[in-house]
Amino acid sequence: MTLVTSRHYNAGDGLVDQRSCVSEQSERSMSENNRVLAIGAHPDDVEFCCTGTLSRLKKKGAEVVIATMAPGDCGTTQYSAREISRIRKGEAAKSASMLGAEYVCLEERDLSIDCDTVTRRKVTGLVRSVDPAIVFTHFLVDYMVDHEATGRLVRDACFGAGVPNFGTPGNESHTETIPHLYYFPPSGCIDNVGNPIEPHFVVDVNDEVEQKKGMLACHASQREWLLRHHGMDEYIESMLRRGAEMGKRIGVEHGEGFLQHRCQPYPTDNTIAERLGIASDSS
Ligand SMILES: [Zn+2]
Repeated sequence: MTLVTSRHYNAGDGLVDQRSCVSEQSERSMSENNRVLAIGAHPDDVEFCCTGTLSRLKKKGAEVVIATMAPGDCGTTQYSAREISRIRKGEAAKSASMLGAEYVCLEERDLSIDCDTVTRRKVTGLVRSVDPAIVFTHFLVDYMVDHEATGRLVRDACFGAGVPNFGTPGNESHTETIPHLYYFPPSGCIDNVGNPIEPHFVVDVNDEVEQKKGMLACHASQREWLLRHHGMDEYIESMLRRGAEMGKRIGVEHGEGFLQHRCQPYPTDNTIAERLGIASDSS
């Protein structure tokens, strides 16, 4: 993705035009910050992990931006990297639109998301552009390198967004506050050596399951690939299994669990629990 102005991202091939969706900071109201940014490594990560919670926050008035670090260029056995990138960005944008959210791709590449300064500046630019109250991303330990790198980059970007002398490619204005940062628990809620990683709290998203299914189904290239290989709708089924496992922790059919970055100077109060009126430690 190419930065074209101080605050806006180029729409790029297959992307929605961020000029119409990432609000100018100068136009933002001084009332409560309702902006939420969910950053996954690849298209569909956010859908699997937090679209139920995004949907609940949306119903409370949140403005949502969904971003992916990469377009999912390795998620195919039949298309070129260029073609599958085009397809998957279109799928991600369609999914985001179902939620009334915007979609941004930072144009890194699968298995090549480096936790380095160049990428950190790019992610910081995105955080500054959105200036969110809440950020979701992958946990710092997960089953694959892109997820771990994304988690670290986003953690650093939330901090760096408020540091005026940390330059970004688009020279976005620094933010005034560090957002509340939440992580998706790693796959299977275990770390790389099998130790349990329990979520700090679980959100009941049973009423959002149909919305979640619909958004996930937008990622047709991935769903059909798994359908051919598994002979069943594994894509949707695996999301439902994950949600059921998480939901068990609080006695509901479908849940989404999160860990909060609770280290200063990041805010440590649980704004999601407060906004949704749920227990802040429900694991
Ligand atoms: Zn992923």
